[in-house]
Amino acid sequence: MRRAGVSNFVGAPAGAVGATTAVGTPATAVGTPANDALDWATLLGAQQSASAALQSVGLPPLDTSLDQMNGEAHQAFLALQAAATAQGLAFTVRSTRRSCAQQHGLWLIGRTPGDERTHVTNADGCVSWHVAGRAVDVTMTTGTYADFGSLAKSMGWKWGGDFPGFPDVGHVEWHPGLTIEQVCPVPSACSDASVDVTLPGEPPPATVDDTPPSTAPLAFLLGSLGLLGLVFYKRGS
Ligand SMILES: [Zn+2]
Repeated sequence: MRRAGVSNFVGAPAGAVGATTAVGTPATAVGTPANDALDWATLLGAQQSASAALQSVGLPPLDTSLDQMNGEAHQAFLALQAAATAQGLAFTVRSTRRSCAQQHGLWLIGRTPGDERTHVTNADGCVSWHVAGRAVDVTMTTGTYADFGSLAKSMGWKWGGDFPGFPDVGHVEWHPGLTIEQVCPVPSACSDASVDVTLPGEPPPATVDDTPPSTAPLAFLLGSLGLLGLVFYKRGS
């Protein structure tokens, strides 16, 4: 299933811009005329249907949990959420960590012959901080993207609204002291979901523990009480 989805992307047009462009300084989107003058609302609208677009080619939907994020970025985002709430801002999380295959799938939107869809990203594969678990996309439900961006920047985040030519207003990324080249030395190697992008010396992201809690301690307690009751019953008889 996953492989079938990935194989759909073999044959991406050579020479498309974005593959080697670091997030933070993306080039202006190229391709269809509609992408030459992207406004933030158009981009946001296109991004909000991107998860369904991935699923339509056999890839998993975008993760909206914080579970797979880099630990530092996870903590920083919790702080950002709390500060936003204190300011009366509210948002829903639309995308957190992505696999290489998911990011490549997003990048291909609007970049194959005949595909006139609006680009949803300028970063291919691990060139996106999402792949390293260090970026989050939100949709504002109360307050403005500008206020969200100002708050995020004041707390050390990079805000996508500052990307020249690609105003990604719902996007924030956390990578103090890191460059994308450190995280993503070989962008072309990152197109398969099996590739895990982890910095040297950094533990892999925590895996989600979805096993049900064990009932063994409860069984032991009940068993012990039963035995105690039997002892007292024997003594009393
Ligand atoms: Zn993003």
